Amino acid sequence: MSRTKPSILLIYTGGTIGMIRDFKTGALKAFDFKTLLDKIPELQLLDCNIDTVSNKPIDSSNMNPDYWVEIAELIEASYDDFDGFVVLHGSDTMSYTASALSFMLENLAKPVVFTGSQLPIGDLRTDAKENLITSIQVASLQKDKEPVIKEVCLYFEYKLYRGNRTTKINAEHFQAFASPNYTDLAESGVHLKVNKRYLFKPDPNKPLKVHKNLDHNIALIKLFPGITKTVIESIFNNPSLKAVILETYGAGNCTTEAWFIELLEEKISKGIHIINITQCSGGSVMMGQYETSSSLKRIGVISGKDITTEAAVSKLMYLLGQNISKEMFKSAYEMPLRGEMT
Ligand code: ASP
Repeated sequence: MSRTKPSILLIYTGGTIGMIRDFKTGALKAFDFKTLLDKIPELQLLDCNIDTVSNKPIDSSNMNPDYWVEIAELIEASYDDFDGFVVLHGSDTMSYTASALSFMLENLAKPVVFTGSQLPIGDLRTDAKENLITSIQVASLQKDKEPVIKEVCLYFEYKLYRGNRTTKINAEHFQAFASPNYTDLAESGVHLKVNKRYLFKPDPNKPLKVHKNLDHNIALIKLFPGITKTVIESIFNNPSLKAVILETYGAGNCTTEAWFIELLEEKISKGIHIINITQCSGGSVMMGQYETSSSLKRIGVISGKDITTEAAVSKLMYLLGQNISKEMFKSAYEMPLRGEMT
């Protein structure tokens, strides 16, 4: 099919961007997608063709792996018909979904831009219009008829980030996201400035492969001084548990108390994968740098390096769904698969 203008598929999943206030309770709730588009006549001025599709709109606090599969399937089904995809999503769990989709869409060679807003699109002071319009422009960017962006990213408040590097940092400010360990992919000012050397470069010879098998029998434990043996044991004693992400201190440090290290060692020997990520928003796990992380390294804990919690969770579900051996699992987790770690 020969096309003059880029064609963009706008996928609406819900979130504040498309919500209205309930008259009686004052609470925000999802509303009709078509009405949402009527609120932005500016979309017709964009130099691209826009098609829209919507699943059941939800508040993103209700997001789950089944819904991630639905989004991936929508993209898969229309992959050849569109030049780019914009996903409207609630900001609360947007970084989780963007991270998950980055792993699910292997060899992605087109832009998938997540965006949303802090205020509904109908509000006078809304941030939704700028976020939506620029996301569509980003998804339409082409050079020699090829998309400029070939990865899952997130656009919010004048910045384009690699999706699996983002985290929601603020429930109040329009600048709600940050990418603490990776440079922004683009910035929107008077010009839209793309940091080309930081863009993901997929292998052009490989076709899109969509992974839909996600295993969410996992747990996430944030350590704190005084966390008890009973609490840790109760999590690890769950019979369906396959892997645990430990949010440790600083560069991947934790208590050296014998009960803790022995418990982890025993679970690893039984085939439970344990991933070490840091509670710090920036920087990386470096097991062995301090005595308080040497034992973790010795017993075979996997390093999450500088991965975000959001990407750590979805990478874990994705790799567990791949059914790979224990040894392969550790090396696959410690290697950047979609630019999610350094
Ligand atoms: N609770 C909303 C959601 O994540 C917040 C937002 O859209 O910003 O769906």
